[in-house]
Amino acid sequence: MKHSGQLTMKDGKLQVPDQPIIPFIEGDGIGPEIWAASRKVFDAAVQKAYQGTRQVIWQETLAGEKAYNQTGTWLPEATLEAIRTHLVAIKGPLTTPIGGGFRSLNVTLRQELDLYICYRPVRYFEGVPSPLKHPERTDMQIFRENTEDIYAGIEFSAGSDEAEKLIAFLKDELGTEKIRFPETSAIGIKPVSKEGTERLVRGAIDQAIRQKRKSVTLVHKGNIMKYTEGGFKQWGYDLAEREFGDQVFTWQTYLSTKEQEGPEAAENLLTRAQQDGKVIIKDRIADIFLQEILIRPEQYDVIATLNLNGDYISDALAAQVGGIGIAPGANMNLQSGHAIFEATHGTAPEYAGLDQLNPSSLLLSGALMFDYLGWPEAAAYITDSIAAAIASKKVTKDFADQMDKAESLKCSEFGNLLVEWIEKA
Ligand code: NAD
Repeated sequence: MKHSGQLTMKDGKLQVPDQPIIPFIEGDGIGPEIWAASRKVFDAAVQKAYQGTRQVIWQETLAGEKAYNQTGTWLPEATLEAIRTHLVAIKGPLTTPIGGGFRSLNVTLRQELDLYICYRPVRYFEGVPSPLKHPERTDMQIFRENTEDIYAGIEFSAGSDEAEKLIAFLKDELGTEKIRFPETSAIGIKPVSKEGTERLVRGAIDQAIRQKRKSVTLVHKGNIMKYTEGGFKQWGYDLAEREFGDQVFTWQTYLSTKEQEGPEAAENLLTRAQQDGKVIIKDRIADIFLQEILIRPEQYDVIATLNLNGDYISDALAAQVGGIGIAPGANMNLQSGHAIFEATHGTAPEYAGLDQLNPSSLLLSGALMFDYLGWPEAAAYITDSIAAAIASKKVTKDFADQMDKAESLKCSEFGNLLVEWIEKA
């Protein structure tokens, strides 16, 4: 039976009641303390933005150590069912259980709900310690494919029956002579599909158009892996032209115009597309891209990339703007509407219970969640209050240690400061 607080999908659009039920997982290690601080801020932001006409009904669901201690399982079926039903959830970090046979809980959640986009926006907050001279030039949104690539989990250890069979098959049936040391090779498989690429790239371009961003860059290693990563690039360009037509201008059109009509005609076409506010679709080889984000970050905006590249790029970009304590993220399926917003750091067990670390990653993930729900006013209160706290140099220890003359607050004090700021705003 449907509760009135239940989110639903209708005609591809998320339907959000005024009092949505949102399952939360507080997480392990520092999870409970960053969750407690964040929840107060979320409630204050919603109250301030909508004056009681909207309110989140938080519903705790168990995962990780707390679930294991209470139920004997790390990820109870009831938790999966709650997220399946309510579509949107938010979570703190979870311990990866150690021992044979355990999959990471995060990976399990992603696979069970087919959350094919790992979304990581990366922007700079004035005053955050950064290794760059101009960190404010970094403002990107990463759409990382989350279900395919060498990360699909098809891997066999060296010397195993499976690896031997596969190596023999590759050699005998497919004529592959390229495995340098067949006797001692472990083997991994890298599936990259047209469908998987298209749903990811569609999400990235869609968002770029909605948010009036300047470009979408397809990041790949298609120069070396022609059919997998090269396929990603080509399918991405083809989809952009086929589904988004006049709203985008692709680098492939630029190149073909240059070849047929000369460089000036191509430049003119590009300039006109930019003036018309079209989203420019371009691509970069992954290794060059990692240089580009340091040298010319202002030239990049929305990024669409494969799973492994995306893993490296997300962390490299997060480090440019202040790193692990402040990078938000989400895993999403835009077709079913399922989305889990999460702190991107781990459980930092050595700090658990000290009320010391930074809740900003979870807070900013909450802001992303409110944007996703179509409550941008609440999102803005969260983001603006964090910006104001950092600008006034009142921050948690991780930042205070690296800043000049900053006041070091406990995690809970930092949360309370944001609540006060929101109430006064
Ligand atoms: P970690 O992110 O927990 O900690 C590494 C270091 O980062 C910490 O020592 C701390 O200095 C810093 N840090 C982390 N969170 C911070 C915060 N909020 N504010 C300021 N600084 C912060 O990584 P780890 O030690 O490799 O992993 C610990 C556990 O977390 C493992 O069980 C791992 O599997 C798990 N993990 C979970 C997730 C997740 O749930 N999404 C992600 C990564 C790791």
